[in-house]
Amino acid sequence: MKHPNMKLLLRLSTVAAACSILATLAPAAPRLLVMNGLFATMSESRPDPFLGHMLVDEKGVIVSIGEGAPPAAMKADQTLDAAGRIIMPGFISGHSHIAASVRRGRLPGMELDGLIDNPVPFFRAEFYAAGDLHAFALHGALDYLRHGITTYFEYPIRPRFLGEDLYREMFAAELQAGARFVYGYNVPDLPPAEARQAFLEFKAYAEQLAGGDPRYLRLALAKTGHIGRWGHDFFATEVAIAKEFGLDLQLHFLESNRYQMQNRADFTMMEQAGALEVGLIYGHFIHHSQQILDKSVAAGARMIWNPLSNGRLASGLADVPKYLKAGMVVGMGLDGQSTADLADPFENMRMGLYSLRMEYNDASILLPLDLLRLHTIGTARAIGVADRVGTLEPGKFADFLLVDTMEPDTGPVHDVYATLVFACSSDNVDTVFVGGEPVVRRKQPLKFDAAAVAREAHERVAAMRKRSETPALASGKP
Ligand SMILES: [Zn+2]
Repeated sequence: MKHPNMKLLLRLSTVAAACSILATLAPAAPRLLVMNGLFATMSESRPDPFLGHMLVDEKGVIVSIGEGAPPAAMKADQTLDAAGRIIMPGFISGHSHIAASVRRGRLPGMELDGLIDNPVPFFRAEFYAAGDLHAFALHGALDYLRHGITTYFEYPIRPRFLGEDLYREMFAAELQAGARFVYGYNVPDLPPAEARQAFLEFKAYAEQLAGGDPRYLRLALAKTGHIGRWGHDFFATEVAIAKEFGLDLQLHFLESNRYQMQNRADFTMMEQAGALEVGLIYGHFIHHSQQILDKSVAAGARMIWNPLSNGRLASGLADVPKYLKAGMVVGMGLDGQSTADLADPFENMRMGLYSLRMEYNDASILLPLDLLRLHTIGTARAIGVADRVGTLEPGKFADFLLVDTMEPDTGPVHDVYATLVFACSSDNVDTVFVGGEPVVRRKQPLKFDAAAVAREAHERVAAMRKRSETPALASGKP
């Protein structure tokens, strides 16, 4: 042996190898123990908030949750003393256009059709450069996390003629951002065989990129094309893909006041295309008729209520108490930051609740806990992921918010649910956890340089605008 300590080194490496074998045989230590928190689990089996503890395993899944102090033997890699804080599940947005994060404050006096009729530059494929949609989607997904939204249904907007490479950037950025999502693929407007092939290629791409990452919850479809401009044949293509692969299909339906008659007529076409035979999720569903409501409930269709967006665009007020009574599953959404410019779920709950109370002249029409449930477990049910998120219960992901009612101070807490809904905003969210790991503290992402993400998004929008003002491009392709 040339090295004098070679024998010792060999012995040490043998010991190290033995230790690593033991480490793989022994169960990994739990990741996190939360104690002294005031738990608002949103679980129907625990309707009242309680002081307690929660244990999270190494995969970010809740092992146990209980009242009082944890047993002395309960240990984890990290311990979080949540004294004086409320622990609630992360919010879920059931209808979201993440890349719209760079379109806040645009077209302030317009309704939905005004947005659609002003496609330059954001709805026109030729103005996008490589990297734009990645930057915009990263900006939007981080913005969601900063406001306490830990899961969403992504309904990307695919400008016509946008190539798959640019389209895929949104998926890649959102996977990187760290929230959980259901991805609603927009089937391209192509003949059926080509559209199916494009779907299969995207599915393979998404599965390969995610590589089993539990933040990618599942694939779904998000209807391509705008309200009032649907065609039967293309719709039938989307429905056929949803049917063949067992996917939910989300669509904007009965949103705009202006298109309500057209949309009601479209319902017949939807029935003819077989849409009621797949898992339908309606974004908005405001201007319903009794017949459409009855048939939709019978078909198991779910709806996503977006109060901030519906107010911003003067779309109208969804009759949520009526839908709930009829047995419809209702979720809530932020609908992208181009129409819920401040994506604060607390604001969304207040806007919805207060609008209904004004409409009904009845303060008991819905209570704060109803709103909290709608924006968490209700939405999880609506988008088909209630087995994994939406409440804090054993077996679900430890996606939760540490809410601090002392900063900014709301005054004494008399009723936990009322304080959360009436008196809190996303400024009260101290820390956001996904899978038991902190990802945002006091609105600052912990794994990203938020200033750099913002700077890139701003610069890219400025460059995009410049391109759209170049006459050769602006008057070019459709
Ligand atoms: Zn929308």
